[in-house]
Amino acid sequence: MHIGIVGLGLIGGSLALDWRQGGHRITGVSRRAATITLAQERGIIDHGGTELSLLASCEVVVLCVPVVQLVQTAELVCPHLRADAILTDVGSVKAPVVQAITPLWPGFIGGHPLAGTAAQGIAAAQAQLFRQRPYVLTPTPGTHAPQLARLQTLIQELGAHLLVCDPHHHDRAVAWISHLPIWVSAALLNAAAREPDPQIAALAQQLASSGWQDTTRVGGGNPELGVGLAQSNREHLLADLRHYHQEIAQVIAMLEKQDIAGLTTYLENSRRLGQAFPGKRG
Ligand code: NAP
Repeated sequence: MHIGIVGLGLIGGSLALDWRQGGHRITGVSRRAATITLAQERGIIDHGGTELSLLASCEVVVLCVPVVQLVQTAELVCPHLRADAILTDVGSVKAPVVQAITPLWPGFIGGHPLAGTAAQGIAAAQAQLFRQRPYVLTPTPGTHAPQLARLQTLIQELGAHLLVCDPHHHDRAVAWISHLPIWVSAALLNAAAREPDPQIAALAQQLASSGWQDTTRVGGGNPELGVGLAQSNREHLLADLRHYHQEIAQVIAMLEKQDIAGLTTYLENSRRLGQAFPGKRG
């Protein structure tokens, strides 16, 4: 299949790597010519450039630009697509994207691979990034079934776990498991930075080990990505942050009262709840 990737960064480059390895022909379009050169040098794409007209013969085009640029990019891409092209995206927010792009291109099917690293750009692209990770598609009642089936096949070739759901349900769920953790983790980093004694702050940095790394990793990621997600999924993120705030207030109240039984029950409960979210550890 001839696949076009628009935005050759971590996600776009990683998709291109796997699909090209699987025998597909990859055309890459990105903002900077230097990115295309690097993608060609690393064998990530067959050919590419900065001109969207390069997408004219692609059967599937995947928009992999930052989430706040998806709709604007779709507006620019659509005039170049062949009539039967499948257009999809990898944005981490789905409802506003699906709502805006579907009227522009009836063959649009929203998508979101739940895989990534803290790195960004073409240099961070890696093979097998999506293997055994969830990859969500959010078709609408108007989605053409054969087009959905073709896209599903491509995603299964990545070794990903394919899920299909409503775009709004997707956004509510990822607010909990992806967008809220960014701000919780960032708040933890900022809270620890409030330590007034420089000696203690330095000692804390020396002592920080796996527990600290596990809980702060996503707060130290790409700021452009985190803010884009907060803007695009603001309503659900706000609701979840308020729930989180209530939980912290409850822990503070128990500690103030030295309610050891309450704190124990709280952690016992959280250990049980954690088992419902196995994810992929490590
Ligand atoms: P990234 O590494 O920063 O890559 C985005 C790339 O898009 C940049 O390298 C840039 O390429 C290109 N670009 C930016 N504006 C462009 C434009 N107007 N036209 C064409 N290309 C443009 O970001 P990413 O992490 O891959 O994220 C891309 C998308 O994947 C986002 O929508 C995000 O929501 C989604 N996503 C990210 C993750 C994650 O963990 N990172 C996970 C799942 C989904 P140049 O080098 O040419 O400037």
